[in-house]
Amino acid sequence: MLVIEAKLKGTTTQYSKLDEAIRTGQFIRNTCLRYWEANIGVTRNDLQKLCSVLAKNKETPWAKKLNSQARQAQADRAWSAIQRFYENCRLEKPGKKGYPKDKKFSRSVEYKNSGWKLSYDRRQITFTDGFKVGTMDLWSSRDLVCYAEKQISRVRVIRRADGYYAQFLLDWDRREKHEFKGKMTVIDLGLKEFYTDSDGNTVENPKYLRKSERRIKMLQRRVSKKHIKGKKQSNRYQKARQALALANLKISRQREDRARKEALALVKSNDLIVYEDLKIQNMVKNHHLAKSISDASWYQFTQWLQYFAKVHGVIVIAVPPHNTTVDCSCCQAKVKKTLSTRTHKCSACGTVLDRDHNAAKNILAKGFKLLAEYLNSTVGHTESGAKSSKAQGETNLWLKNGDVLALSWLDELRTKNSWESPSRFGTPN
Ligand SMILES: [Zn+2]
Repeated sequence: MLVIEAKLKGTTTQYSKLDEAIRTGQFIRNTCLRYWEANIGVTRNDLQKLCSVLAKNKETPWAKKLNSQARQAQADRAWSAIQRFYENCRLEKPGKKGYPKDKKFSRSVEYKNSGWKLSYDRRQITFTDGFKVGTMDLWSSRDLVCYAEKQISRVRVIRRADGYYAQFLLDWDRREKHEFKGKMTVIDLGLKEFYTDSDGNTVENPKYLRKSERRIKMLQRRVSKKHIKGKKQSNRYQKARQALALANLKISRQREDRARKEALALVKSNDLIVYEDLKIQNMVKNHHLAKSISDASWYQFTQWLQYFAKVHGVIVIAVPPHNTTVDCSCCQAKVKKTLSTRTHKCSACGTVLDRDHNAAKNILAKGFKLLAEYLNSTVGHTESGAKSSKAQGETNLWLKNGDVLALSWLDELRTKNSWESPSRFGTPN
């Protein structure tokens, strides 16, 4: 899958009609969720049917305006949120299970292969559904002309702080030749450095990101100073808010760019990469801005890692984070450490290692264990008993196969980031 993004240029009326379409999509998604909450045993098919009921309902005349496939896409989104919640519960995933919540500020709506039409030269798009948006110009650095219209499986309209965008999802299976050298690594995503690998190499966070982070902190203070509780907000407030939104958009693009480049470089030079998963969620408990910024970059980074792993045909394994710093990598004895303890000294077997080195060894061992479990498991196992089916499920959870399609649902996953949506499935290159 490949995504080409283009800016939509049109009139103010057209933009507000796009807003209407986005709002309607949100309405349909939320209605589906409410229907699921109120009824027992709701299936995906029920939600699809609900869409056509909504379209016929005279009390919700706007629902009919949205293209029927776009309505169904919204039902699917609600469905995948529900599915993920069930899946997390089934696998007894630690932490929050992600109970599907109503969306209040949706920024996007998704069309499948109807409700829009490209012009012959692919420089314009016409939206043909009931919102009557009409023809808009497409501004993009990448050319759509190279691809057949049939290859476009979805068109997503996204609102960002600096305008409206169309993303074209193309069915295109990207494959790159990878030179296997038998090299593997464990990466540790950090706060101070971007990551440290098991050879002790560190990749720093660049200066421009720190600069942008400082600027965002300053702009956030400005917004909260101008906020008046319980009253209509002033123009000064709205201006400050807009400035903050633009700064967030800028940093999200910078982060995305960096995450993509670092992930590609890592995949290119390794055949097997292991990292600790869920550390991200543990960190989010602390709502400190600097942390949540790193969280977002890690998340993007791991998503790109999985994407490039698939493209290059290498293995990326995410392992559960329990006890990787405490366990002795030699004898598995538990060696308690405070944050300032930099050396691992095992009293049981006498191993002395650098703290991070010990953790890296543990993570690598876990990764191999999961890989072995995965390779030795077959579909037949799941029927033989509850225990093995759980083990299988866990493998599915942790051994991420770089499912690129999952990238298109990232909007659902990325609820913790309050700022502007990064060009989510940007253009892989
Ligand atoms: Zn030991």
